[in-house]
Amino acid sequence: MNSRDTAALLEWYYKEKRDLPWRNTSDPYAIWLSEVILQQTRVDQGMAYYHKLLGQYPAVNDLASAPIDEVLSLWQGLGYYSRGRNLHATAKKIQELGNFPSTYTSLLELKGIGPYTAAAIASFAFNERVAVLDGNVFRVITRFLASDLPIDKGPTRKTFQLLLNEWIPKHAPADFNQATMELGATVCTPKNPKCSECPLAPNCAAFSEGTFLNFPVKASKTKVEPLFLYYAAIETPSGYMVKKRPEMGVWAGLYDFPFVESKVELNEEEVILEFQKRFPSTQNATWKKESFYTHVLSHRKISAQFFSCLCRNMSEEFSSTKTSEELLNTGISALLMKYVKEIHI
Ligand code: SF4
Repeated sequence: MNSRDTAALLEWYYKEKRDLPWRNTSDPYAIWLSEVILQQTRVDQGMAYYHKLLGQYPAVNDLASAPIDEVLSLWQGLGYYSRGRNLHATAKKIQELGNFPSTYTSLLELKGIGPYTAAAIASFAFNERVAVLDGNVFRVITRFLASDLPIDKGPTRKTFQLLLNEWIPKHAPADFNQATMELGATVCTPKNPKCSECPLAPNCAAFSEGTFLNFPVKASKTKVEPLFLYYAAIETPSGYMVKKRPEMGVWAGLYDFPFVESKVELNEEEVILEFQKRFPSTQNATWKKESFYTHVLSHRKISAQFFSCLCRNMSEEFSSTKTSEELLNTGISALLMKYVKEIHI
């Protein structure tokens, strides 16, 4: 991430961030409380508990001195009572220490505070340059770099931790961390990332390759199945025949050439017969075998074979056409982009 990416990310965050109460405080206790509550709870649900617990125990010593049964009764409804118990035990430890540990390393020594929570408290409350790395941040960074390092392996966390620590601007560690988390939560979402609204899009490798659904990668991930696509590049006097992809799924809403899809490999004759069946006006045209590409998505390895033909007689099945020039400037699938770049002179 270069300094321009960082600046764009922060600018986006200042404009778009959700107003969450724990963002308006630098009190390590309040930040810690919010992080523990949010570990397995949605933001909207966790908010009421945050206010309730902080209202009852405004300082860490209040929580430490409260009877455990009272704490657990306030925790009721959040589930995972062990979190409530650990919270109380750690509050007692902090009370014994006499102050709230203020560095990433000293926070890690507390029972129940792992690398993520330690980084959140150290950066949000004490402005330490240490990156938070949760599921949302892993998604953003692996897509931004198009990195296939498996995120469920220890060395990967270490690699990204070091990298992100370097990217954190000196003047805004807390905001940078909040921004990467917020981007993962609201824009770089698992299924339908809103890349058109993303401040990192200009340098995002997965976005430019159209492979964002491939990331993050897990070592324990599901089997990749083969998929064969046979594309029809049908050139008419007004341009190539195109269709819009459905609004859901891979390359949603982008233009594409018509294609035949198969789980097994087809031979050339079978493919051309299928094209002629679907597009009767190409029956007298000569089909030519063109380029071949492969493209890997999270569950699929796509093998794409292009075929072309010239079709002078337009008929009703040609609802929409675009020239190669127009295609280059339109939202088209990553596979089609490879082909159009090759044929456009
Ligand atoms: S451009 Fe898209 S894939 Fe890349 S970081 Fe932004 S939302 Fe995620």
